[in-house]
Amino acid sequence: MRYQGKVFVISAPSGTGKTTLNRRLVQENPSLEFTVSYTARKRRDGEQDGVDYHFISEEEFRNRVKRNEMLEWAEVFGDLKGTGVDELKRIQNKGRVPILEIDVQGWTNARIYLDNAVSIFILPPTAQSLWNRLEKRGTDTLDKRWRRINTAKKEIESALHYHEFIINNDLETAYKELRGIVIDGDKSQMSSEDAKQHCQKLLQEFDTASWFHQLKANMVQL
Ligand code: ADP
Ligand code: 5GP
Repeated sequence: MRYQGKVFVISAPSGTGKTTLNRRLVQENPSLEFTVSYTARKRRDGEQDGVDYHFISEEEFRNRVKRNEMLEWAEVFGDLKGTGVDELKRIQNKGRVPILEIDVQGWTNARIYLDNAVSIFILPPTAQSLWNRLEKRGTDTLDKRWRRINTAKKEIESALHYHEFIINNDLETAYKELRGIVIDGDKSQMSSEDAKQHCQKLLQEFDTASWFHQLKANMVQL
């Protein structure tokens, strides 16, 4: 199952600002549309079926996987999530370009099927800013934020197979850069080598920063 159409894949460690940037990109550019993922997780208050996700049972999810109807799927924070091939076709049939908001595992699995994908990885300026943004967003318990920051660390360790990298420091600057890549076909300002170095800097911060070690000690005590 190969997909020849143009598609953008956008990933970022949780809390980086991916949703904020992507929502604006799609709102301002009607030629783009998000794929709606399938998930077997429970619907949260305020989430709409068919808009935020297609909410299906675990059995149906696994049947779709068996029938080869998923472009990619993964267990993300304990929940099954995946992109259906039907979503790409649905969006392509409208003459629009699909945007996939998937995690690093998702891109690793999907890239072999997507011949004309441009993948973009958005990075936080520092690890601490990521933690602060997760806190500021206020959607997760401390325990969940801790899981998210640890997953972020793993994603940063393995996020090298992307075409373009953007640092979301100043929101407006990051948005312009994202828009430039998706709408104008620009290359990102950051080279892969710079991105690699920035990832190393973030990982070093996780290793050495006192705020992270303090947090870890607190989480062990809980
Ligand atoms: P993600 O989808 O990557 O998990 P969100 O878009 O939900 O991240 O953003 C996490 C939080 O960070 C939100 O409260 C958002 O308003 C804030 N945020 C996003 N970009 C920036 C930025 N450049 N500077 C400061 N805060 C930001
Ligand atoms: P949520 O907060 O909605 O429970 O989880 C969001 C996380 O799930 C993000 O890391 C996002 O990239 C990931 N995600 C959402 N949909 C998919 C999908 O279809 N496939 C994969 N691999 N990850 C997904």
